[in-house]
Amino acid sequence: MNETEKRINDLRAQLRYHSDRYYNDDAPEIEDYQYDMMMRELKALEEKYPEYDSVDSPTKRVGGKADNSFESVVHSVRMESLQDAFSKEEIFDFDKRVKDGAGAVSYVVEPKIDGLSVSLEYVNGEFFRGSTRGDGDTGEDVSGNLRVIRNVPLKLNKPLPYIEVRGEVYMPKKSFDKVVDRQLLNDEKPFKNPRNAAAGSLRQKDSKVTATRGLDIFVFNIQQVEGAELSSHKQSLDFLRELGFNTIPFYERVNSIEDAFKEVEKIGEMRGDLEFDIDGAVIKVDDFSTRDILGSTSKFPKWAVAFKYPPEEKQTKLIDIEITVGRTGVLTPTAVLESVHLAGTTVSRATLHNQDFINEKGVNIGDIVTVRKAGDIIPEVLCVNEKNSQGAFVYPEICPSCGEKVVREEGEAAIRCINPECPAQLLRNLIHFCSRDAMDIEGLGPSIIETFVNEGIIKKTSDIYRLDKEEIAKLEGFKETSANNIINSVEKSKENDLGKLIFALGIRHIGEKAAKLLSDEFKNIEAVMSASVEDILNIEGYGKIMAESVVDFFSSESAKELINELTLAGVNTKSKTVIKDNRFEGKTFVLTGTLESFKRSEASKIIEGYGGKTSSSVSKKTDYVLAGAEAGSKLDKANALGVAVISEDEFKEMIK
Ligand code: NAD
Repeated sequence: MNETEKRINDLRAQLRYHSDRYYNDDAPEIEDYQYDMMMRELKALEEKYPEYDSVDSPTKRVGGKADNSFESVVHSVRMESLQDAFSKEEIFDFDKRVKDGAGAVSYVVEPKIDGLSVSLEYVNGEFFRGSTRGDGDTGEDVSGNLRVIRNVPLKLNKPLPYIEVRGEVYMPKKSFDKVVDRQLLNDEKPFKNPRNAAAGSLRQKDSKVTATRGLDIFVFNIQQVEGAELSSHKQSLDFLRELGFNTIPFYERVNSIEDAFKEVEKIGEMRGDLEFDIDGAVIKVDDFSTRDILGSTSKFPKWAVAFKYPPEEKQTKLIDIEITVGRTGVLTPTAVLESVHLAGTTVSRATLHNQDFINEKGVNIGDIVTVRKAGDIIPEVLCVNEKNSQGAFVYPEICPSCGEKVVREEGEAAIRCINPECPAQLLRNLIHFCSRDAMDIEGLGPSIIETFVNEGIIKKTSDIYRLDKEEIAKLEGFKETSANNIINSVEKSKENDLGKLIFALGIRHIGEKAAKLLSDEFKNIEAVMSASVEDILNIEGYGKIMAESVVDFFSSESAKELINELTLAGVNTKSKTVIKDNRFEGKTFVLTGTLESFKRSEASKIIEGYGGKTSSSVSKKTDYVLAGAEAGSKLDKANALGVAVISEDEFKEMIK
């Protein structure tokens, strides 16, 4: 495989992984801007080297997939994505393509709400069903959760026979602040930004919880309608308002791309002051018949473009640099700033990454710097504008936590404390190990762990399983009951599934989902420990960096010792996915359409119970496509690729 092909494969794997975190887990690990730039690089490579192009590439697919825990809804009108533009030039290129295809047009410009796309269907004016976008063809039925959003009308002002509209469910900034405060108070992992909060709140099982999250909706499109004739976007927005929908809050109709771009800039200026997050502005051809002429690609309509605002930047004074020691011993510098208002939030800290970054920017305490906030996650220092200090900041030579000398390994940017007993590292590792998504040891929260470390009761991770009730009860502030509770939850954690244990180990780049994938693939810890990078790369969703990180982790003596001690303590090291028999071992199924006798989630469980796997997309690697009624594009694709298609009855025969 040559370098280009490797890069293309790596980008695709990374984009798939991050798309899964973003759409399916509602917990992104990188900035949107970073994601967009990787997507750009892939698009450019596929255009330059068409021999590596693939219909399955993330550049051609709408992100997301319908989760098995919801009923699925097949969209009769595809819920498309939008093509994006990052510069004025790209907006003008879009206009040129429109004019080449359809002549002069009028555009409508409106804000691009940063939430999650939904379809709402009404029959005889009454709310009938609501669903998420999913992969554009199939979404999740979230009707129950949509009903509790005040601005989703349950009855329209006109009893139209049928209408399907599209809108964006979002969490207003005020609701977001409240929700995060509550999460922090309850020691829960807070949502990263309002978009993920909205998605996480809408895609969950209990409508009562959704009702407490203060969600709202803006409706921006009619997907299909019976009983009304509409010929333009502007007209349809007015009509939607008459029906009682909360439509997109402001929009402008213009007759040239120059004016459209002025509107885009105007919306950009308002951005920080709005009550809700926007991640761009959308320019749409107004006239419906012109839209029909222009048509769509497999992913987006050719008659609209989303301008994504560049990350917001501001200048401020850097008043201090704090060094903290992370779980892996890496020393991380954080800039403490004079507070500035940026992209709708107050920023007083920003990342400085590492010593190389500090040297490259020449940044030091006292300087005036530019801070950038890309997406909504971590702000970073971009450059120095005014130098008020001598040279660049230099890391201390000793660890701020344990006082031991720090090292910089060859070829690495990171400076580390390698003292295995460094309390800062131990503490962070332990907090992660015991946290809810990891070993879920209730009662061993951050402050209790800190006490145990300070008291010398815990000196390394495996000491958790040697905790002694009497010893705990003797400590100040502890009683027999609290000591008992801790011991009981430590005992309970021994029964956890292997996926949780792998996640708890805190392997770099390995999140919860990636840990579960390892557990599903290798079934027990010994097999994970002896897997090679190539073995791990066979897992869909794994890229090179992740696979190498797993192998590196398990090659260290301390990791081997830890696993050995945990095993001796009786911690479960096997996957608990129950296999009835292995008749589907090594087989991958894709489910599509509506099944009569099973929910899709039930069918998936049956397949997994027989050792098989399910996937959301059809590829050459798919063994069977189980097609129910009204199966759509996946069925077409299976036929095109020559993948075996089975009916529900055939499936029933196979599982007899
Ligand atoms: P998109 O979000 O760029 O655009 C399409 C969406 O815009 C539609 O689904 C629609 O619901 C919404 N929208 C909001 N207001 C609208 C309006 N007024 N008119 C029309 N549509 C409107 O595209 P996408 O495919 O949904 O998502 C891709 C984006 O998601 C990427 O650009 C990236 O920034 C982000 N993403 C981030 C990560 C990550 O790890 N950070 C991962 C995957 C995707």
